[in-house]
Amino acid sequence: MRQYDVLIIGSGLAGLTLALKVATEKKVCLVSKRNVNDSASNWAQGGIAAVLTDDDSIEAHIHDTLIAGAGLCDAEVTRLVAEHGRETVEWLIAEGVPFTREDDDSGFHLTREGGHSHRRIIHAADATGHAVQKTLAEKVREHANIDVLEDHIAVDLITARKVGIESAECLGAYVLDNTTGKVMTIGAQHTILATGGTGKVYLYTTNPDVSTGDGIAMAWRAGCRVANMEFIQFHPTCLYHPQAKSFLITEAVRGEGGILTLPDGTRFMPEHDARAELAPRDIVARAIDFEMKKRGIDCVYLDISHQPADFVLSHFPTIYRRCMELGIDITKQPIPVVPAAHYCCGGIMTDHAGRTDIPGLYAIGETACTGLHGANRLASNSLLECLVFGQAAAEDILSQAVKDVPPLPYWDESRVTDADEEIIITHNWNELRRFMWNYVGIVRTNKRLARALHRIHMLRDEVHEFYSNFRISNNLVELRNLLQVAELIVKSAMERHESRGLHYSKDYPDMLPDAVPTVLEPSNYYSLLDSQHGHHHH
Ligand SMILES: Cc1cc2nc3c(=O)[nH]c(=O)nc-3n(C[C@H](O)[C@H](O)[C@H](O)COP(=O)(O)OP(=O)(O)OC[C@H]3O[C@@H](n4cnc5c(N)ncnc54)[C@H](O)[C@@H]3O)c2cc1C
Repeated sequence: MRQYDVLIIGSGLAGLTLALKVATEKKVCLVSKRNVNDSASNWAQGGIAAVLTDDDSIEAHIHDTLIAGAGLCDAEVTRLVAEHGRETVEWLIAEGVPFTREDDDSGFHLTREGGHSHRRIIHAADATGHAVQKTLAEKVREHANIDVLEDHIAVDLITARKVGIESAECLGAYVLDNTTGKVMTIGAQHTILATGGTGKVYLYTTNPDVSTGDGIAMAWRAGCRVANMEFIQFHPTCLYHPQAKSFLITEAVRGEGGILTLPDGTRFMPEHDARAELAPRDIVARAIDFEMKKRGIDCVYLDISHQPADFVLSHFPTIYRRCMELGIDITKQPIPVVPAAHYCCGGIMTDHAGRTDIPGLYAIGETACTGLHGANRLASNSLLECLVFGQAAAEDILSQAVKDVPPLPYWDESRVTDADEEIIITHNWNELRRFMWNYVGIVRTNKRLARALHRIHMLRDEVHEFYSNFRISNNLVELRNLLQVAELIVKSAMERHESRGLHYSKDYPDMLPDAVPTVLEPSNYYSLLDSQHGHHHH
């Protein structure tokens, strides 16, 4: 058994921020299921929203966030985040993140994004996330107080309740070493879930492979409330190609005159909205989904070929290069695109310091539901949320008295054997992602949700049996979590009898007068794959 002051699960912006902020005084273990840099944070393009100039204001940032959130943002939390923007961005600058400066070097260059009333997005060219991730990850690796465990996946939290100790606390986690297949017990005074999003529950996603909602599933199994899971943000245009995984085609292509067409070349956006291709993200995504489902087509097309070739090349060099690799010349041909799951607004319910319902357990970043995003996330507020809550949780941890962690039981594998076939994992994973896409995607109906839930329960039984009898693997752990997250998304969507923000139901197309968050209580539901079954404790 290993023992630390602080155990951080996940190495995106949220986890790295917290690690660096507590390591001044605490012994930290940072686990990451692949390479440290395999995270959504590393892929973020646009930038970080923060009030950094005198002509902008905290009030304006709050206002923009509340409008996007369609009545569901927590006003206090929104203020807290907006007010800490500048300070947390200044910390990143001090850590050495190379943000893009103005041409005359008078300060940092700020961009403006959809939904923002001011220029307030600080960025490092079009690869902000990479610049931030690289800078912080290097510091974390060099830090004497931080042990980094890569290729280690957290399997379940160790709560006192589950191991028969008289206390309400979280005491650490079981972590599978993917290189040896052994599960280790890590005890900690404070455990932090910084596990990111849930995009892999859908067939098409802009998220990296690690985004399987592990933190949400682990917290739910441990007894935490989970909120607002029906609000999944879909990006309207992701490259559709069998060899292209998760390649996002920026909104700027539509901004520069790109038009959306059906396979036969017919333009369809004007029929859906007067703003046509320039309508807001969720309207464009919904229109594409409508056309695809109505016609049974695999994708639509985004065409910028009517613009001069040198214009296309100079504006979109990265997209040009990537498409060319796949044999698509975007100066001459339309780009096949589909909408894709992009961001999970809901998650583990937390307070102003990232604390969950379980003492000693925190959740920060995309895995948490702080109340900032409400029913729809404002662009570039997510990286800011990672920073602000990474810092808030760190301050809370540093303010607490040192406590003892009792000896914890080992993971017992004496009753399990090696898996006889892996095909059930890949098959069930593909099936799940496909029906979630078709039935719990951008447009929902009661019938589709019921169908999805039925299928989730069938897969659950199979995976449950597999999990109970065989030695666990990374993919099995992820599939088990994806099924849990899928169930939480479907149940949340079923509870909302209206259309609001990112949740759109054909059966309830109107918005109700009162905005109420969807809060799922673990005790009210039969929790999926709850116990460890074959994996008993000593
Ligand atoms: C293509 C793309 C572009 C984006 N652009 C922007 C943008 O411009 N601005 C913005 O604000 N937001 C943007 N976002 C959203 C933003 O990137 C994410 O919301 C944010 O990075 C989440 O950070 P995080 O630290 O919570 O999680 P992540 O950065 O996803 O990190 C999660 C970490 O947890 C690890 N992990 C997960 N489960 C386990 C487990 N069981 N055991 C061990 N480790 C685990 C992962 O391996 C990973 O290291 C973008 C997202 C994408 C996908």
